Amino acid sequence: TVGEATRMEFQAETKKLLDIVAKSLYTDKEVFLRELVSNASDALEKRRHAALISGSEVEGAPEMAIWIDGDKETNTLTITDTGIGMSKEELIENLGTIARSGSKNFLQQLDESEANSSASANVIGQFGVGFYAVFMVADEVTVYSRRHGAEMGHCWKSTGDGSYELAEASGVAAGTKIVIKLKPEESNFATKWHIGSNIRRYSSFIGFPIKINGERVDTVEAIWLKGKNEVTKEQHSEFYRYISQSFDDPRYTLHFTMDAPISIKAIFYIPESHVEKWGMARQESGVNLYCRKVLIEARSKRLLPEWMRFLKGVVDSEDLPLNISRESMQDSSLMQKISSVLSKRVIKFLQDLAKNDEKGYLKFYDEFGQFLKEGVYTDFNSKAEVAKLLRFESSTSDKKQLVSLDDYIGRMVPEQNDKIYWLLAPTRESALSSAYMEAFTAKKIEVLLVYSAVDEFVMTNLMTYGGKSLASAENAKLDVDKPAEAESLDEADSKALQAWFKDAVAGVKDVRLSSRLVNSPAIIVGHESSSVRRMMAMVESGTP
Ligand code: ADP
Ligand code: MG
Repeated sequence: TVGEATRMEFQAETKKLLDIVAKSLYTDKEVFLRELVSNASDALEKRRHAALISGSEVEGAPEMAIWIDGDKETNTLTITDTGIGMSKEELIENLGTIARSGSKNFLQQLDESEANSSASANVIGQFGVGFYAVFMVADEVTVYSRRHGAEMGHCWKSTGDGSYELAEASGVAAGTKIVIKLKPEESNFATKWHIGSNIRRYSSFIGFPIKINGERVDTVEAIWLKGKNEVTKEQHSEFYRYISQSFDDPRYTLHFTMDAPISIKAIFYIPESHVEKWGMARQESGVNLYCRKVLIEARSKRLLPEWMRFLKGVVDSEDLPLNISRESMQDSSLMQKISSVLSKRVIKFLQDLAKNDEKGYLKFYDEFGQFLKEGVYTDFNSKAEVAKLLRFESSTSDKKQLVSLDDYIGRMVPEQNDKIYWLLAPTRESALSSAYMEAFTAKKIEVLLVYSAVDEFVMTNLMTYGGKSLASAENAKLDVDKPAEAESLDEADSKALQAWFKDAVAGVKDVRLSSRLVNSPAIIVGHESSSVRRMMAMVESGTP
């Protein structure tokens, strides 16, 4: 039973905020449920913490869980939790004003009382509209709440316009119950199926049981919040399969946390394979963004550079306010910071792998090398670091043995004038027997061999590496010392030959005498490759 109600005004900022929320802040109305469920989860966490501090739970304490019940008849949705609950003052403070966040206060208290913060990490709330999101779908919201251990409960009621009502209420269970009278056009949220898919999408990692119309929803442990050494290989495999909806095991797992400059907990998986090699459509990003276990954005495009789309995983940052809509997050400098930090971490992981497990790395490269090459020509910020990861066949190494640009630089000889030479050819055999190679072979200069338009494009795009410039072996100006007995034409004859050549072969711009050839009479140099021109055109039009 509810006692006599007092009408109270929302704080001015709250009114303003409610206006904004109702109109535009969230693009997806459905996130209101994720906000309420995350509040319920926070409240349960706080109750657990309170019980820890006071020594033991009160006897007959109700199960720690969250119940969501939709009723199509009355077009209502009810969310109940057995969490810490709110006193009258807390209802006023937490639901009537926005200048402070309950979770933030709680955290401050916690910090003052004890140093241990593993429990506290779970309840860091962000100043935000969280609860108010409910007014996107509600005509009226009634909150029944009673703090654990308190005698009297309270009832808070509002239609989200300028004011709310507050009254004492008896018979209220410890915890919080939120009854939402849905807007007629939002009646979907009263159906079990709709609620279920919403919960699975946004709240599948909540750490407490969730029951929809009495039925338990399967939730999955948020293993990324655990310490790196607390998660077994099997748990990773299971989790990987869950988030990537696949059946294989991850090839590599990168599980890490950092506190500065931003708090991040993340797991990235490199799968065994990818589908793009079969010529199938471009893969979507496989990494989801969370804030304290609650989904902010699935398959986020802004978390990592696009070429890292072969990764699967999760990123959780409590520094991300839940209340930011996708639009406003777009240009947030926070997102850029996160992205840059993450991408560096992934590249570092691959570099370490290449160093410590060459065999494993080469297998990875064989499958995913195309993404790294894409990284070199699309990701300006990381280009130099990604280039360290490239591997090529070389004229001086064994067939199929790949070398890095650093290997190559380590073997450079003075005659090559600090240039990294590469040659495009259809096959290794044709490269090695081509006239372009003659001078290099004679001078024992190593040449990297590339066999595809993409590789050629990477080479021309990279331009320099480690302070050395990359140069096509075709255009090299290398002179080879001729054996003493070699004959040459006199000046008149050679002029005549040059003139004849220009006449006889269409499209020749210039004919030069050169001493770079050993066995072949002539080669064409300085021609622009049609494949590079094609790639340039594609990149410029945005479809490499
Ligand atoms: P935030 O969760 O970011 O603090 P919200 O607007 O989501 O912001 O919630 C405001 C405050 O209201 C919370 O910090 C919490 O103190 C209180 N609150 C909301 N829902 C509940 C609940 N189910 N149980 C207990 N307290 C709640
Ligand atoms: Mg909240």
